Amino acid sequence: ENTANKIAAGEVVERPSSIVKELVENSIDAQSKNIEIEIAEGGIGFIRITDDGIGMSSEDAQLAILRHATSKISAAEDLATITSLGFRGEALPSIAAVSKFSLTTRLHDNQSLATYVEVVGGITTDIREAGGSVGTSIVVKDLFFNTPARKKFLKTPSTESSHIHDILTKIALANPNIAFKLINNNRLVLSTPGNNQLQDTLTNIYGQKIAPDLLPVHYENTIDNIKISGYLSKPTLLKSSRQWQTVIVNARVINSRSIAKALDNAYHSLLPKSGYPLAVLNLSVPTDTIDVNVHPQKSEVKFSDEQKIFRAVYKAVIEVLSAPHA
Ligand code: ADP
Ligand code: MG
Repeated sequence: ENTANKIAAGEVVERPSSIVKELVENSIDAQSKNIEIEIAEGGIGFIRITDDGIGMSSEDAQLAILRHATSKISAAEDLATITSLGFRGEALPSIAAVSKFSLTTRLHDNQSLATYVEVVGGITTDIREAGGSVGTSIVVKDLFFNTPARKKFLKTPSTESSHIHDILTKIALANPNIAFKLINNNRLVLSTPGNNQLQDTLTNIYGQKIAPDLLPVHYENTIDNIKISGYLSKPTLLKSSRQWQTVIVNARVINSRSIAKALDNAYHSLLPKSGYPLAVLNLSVPTDTIDVNVHPQKSEVKFSDEQKIFRAVYKAVIEVLSAPHA
């Protein structure tokens, strides 16, 4: 069991940002409205995620740290229609196998006390009742303290914290209804309003001055049931890398070469200038046309018809750029 967890940890927990991603996704699945992330030493020394979601009972908290104990799918066929971000039931046991992990959680039922569970290198060292408000707080310390070979692959704290900043930015853009805070070495470095306005979330993250350069995207293909919304920057605001591009498919932040390529091709078919637009592209596609279980970190999806997605994104972008105000 502990060995399996350590092996799974190799796939799920690549670096501190993978932990932040998994824990924040759990907080989102738990219907949180406020999620606060605190890190020190680039997340290698310390990560704390606190949410105000539905919390867990004492029994569920103890189950959650066991492998494949997901509460989110009950039968294999649910995978085809999955709507939660998590479904593999691997994140908590994988993280707890390679760190000093603790969880404090209290169910939203107005009667339960909070539960505290501590796991050090995969071994449960403490379970008890505790004080605490409704929701869940997870602390992860000393990542890879028991797997020194893997610790060597981590980069400097400043590189690791920029990976965390990056992934959190994208998750915040995918969830404008949730207020996120990132505190790095006691400094507030990211804060979003959670007012359900993507444009406000964007300007909180990238600065008010980008507002005039944003073009809204509204695309719909009713035959294939593909919808695309979001924002693109005007050709006057191009960036030097793809770092300012966020692609979301059915509420999940993903990496997709073909979507990135469609975006590039559309810009460059109309403009000779080089560079990358700032973009938030939010795709909604029928759940039975994607497979979300193709990557241990769930950062890629497989489209049943990749060409269709490519064409939809390309068209959506061309529409925006050829409108008179662009
Ligand atoms: P998965 O997300 O794939 O189900 P995880 O290992 O990430 O697996 O989490 C295991 C279980 O722990 C989840 O299914 C959920 O029931 C519970 N859980 C984890 N984090 C939270 C949280 N922040 N709030 C409420 N429940 C949580
Ligand atoms: Mg999860």
